Amino acid sequence: MREILHVQGGQCGNQIGSKFWEVICDEHGIDPTGKYNGEASSDIQLERINVYYNEASGGRYVPRAVLMDLEPGTMDSIRSGPYGKIFRPDNFVFGQSGAGNNWAKGHYTEGAELIDSVLDVVRKEAENCDCLQGFQVCHSLGGGTGSGMGTLLISKIREEYPDRMMLTFSVFPSPKVSDTVVEPYNATLSIHQLVENADECMVLDNEALYDICFRTLKLSTPSFGDLNHLISATMSGVTCCLRFPGQLNSDLRKLAVNLIPFPRLHFFMVGFAPLTSRGSQQYVSLTVPELTQQMWDAKNMMCAADPRHGRYLTASAMFRGKMSTKEVDEQMINVQNKNSSYFVEWIPNNVKSSVCDIPPKNLKMSSTFIGNSTSIQEMFRRVSEQFTAMFRRKAFLHWYTGEGMDEMEFTEAESNMNDLVAEYQQYQDATAEDEEEELYEDDGEEAYNE
Ligand code: GDP
Repeated sequence: MREILHVQGGQCGNQIGSKFWEVICDEHGIDPTGKYNGEASSDIQLERINVYYNEASGGRYVPRAVLMDLEPGTMDSIRSGPYGKIFRPDNFVFGQSGAGNNWAKGHYTEGAELIDSVLDVVRKEAENCDCLQGFQVCHSLGGGTGSGMGTLLISKIREEYPDRMMLTFSVFPSPKVSDTVVEPYNATLSIHQLVENADECMVLDNEALYDICFRTLKLSTPSFGDLNHLISATMSGVTCCLRFPGQLNSDLRKLAVNLIPFPRLHFFMVGFAPLTSRGSQQYVSLTVPELTQQMWDAKNMMCAADPRHGRYLTASAMFRGKMSTKEVDEQMINVQNKNSSYFVEWIPNNVKSSVCDIPPKNLKMSSTFIGNSTSIQEMFRRVSEQFTAMFRRKAFLHWYTGEGMDEMEFTEAESNMNDLVAEYQQYQDATAEDEEEELYEDDGEEAYNE
């Protein structure tokens, strides 16, 4: 068994994390008390249940989940919510102080005080595993707890489990949905950490989620519940390969090997089709060509960046439901042939696809897209501009220096993010010819003579 240990932190992390568990419990036939209630004929629901669940006495399935926060509110509402009883009570770790949307409080002061209690629970869960493949962390980057304490936890886990994989579901801030003006600071400090300490990051950008709700789903005032509905559908799709039997991307490391050609470039655009709103009764049924077309569409990406402004280094697609694998393969080849200039030619066969029989709830078919696109730099540039506008004047810095932070860390975070943007640009511009030219330059005439 190759287990994954899930951690959710802060308000956003806890909210999206608990939605994730509701969705996957449903897909695996686990009811709110942890009992298996699925279709008896369907071994497929339980075949890889141990990836995300522990089996407790009495045949109950318990999420391998750790919940942390610096204030009790969000976790109280999870505990009293529909799936509140399914979690292991000891795995709720929380403080009372709050992080006040201050990354420094999460990372260096309040969060640092609580982190050892979290690590104790993490260690206990890890010790119970047969062969832990890695961790997944749900958090937002714009606040204080998920962002500051979340990245502190990631660095501590990296230290203690250096050879395990670290996947994150990271919610990027947008002024369209924002709570506070300092979010670009918190996000930039977090990105600096994620570049170094995470292996793979699924980017969930509130700007794009808001736009999907507003423009495509025609919701005039989208709530977090609406955004989180899109997030949980995407998280379910992304983890489908890990949870159900199959060949492609069947564990965190294989996913990383297929998608990450250069270690720092591990921030993925994710897309989903068909897009539906929360509680929508309308029955959406799409054909394989329609699913394929939508899945590649910028409007279906959970990240506010247009893939047509960059190039794909790699991509993976997961189709779900009963459909012909042959048709999926044909449609995927078709997209690549028609749009070949949007795929770097120096990574042959850089798009993979797979089909999982089990569709998500309320849909006959769906598809989830994971792309490593150089266009994601657009989102990093957006955060960088917002960061720099304030940092140039040192606005709000006292909140961070007051917690003992040095201005230097801001400068370093800013330049690490700008370097990342430059690296994406470098590979966007790289062509196969460049490399040949370099060869000729190195070898001089000999190359011509060959
Ligand atoms: P923390 O509790 O200190 O980690 O702070 P939050 O998680 O509230 O972080 C604030 C950021 O998260 C802002 O960018 C919010 O827009 C975003 N956020 C908070 N709750 C949610 C949520 O439930 N869903 C989404 N998509 N974003 C959220």
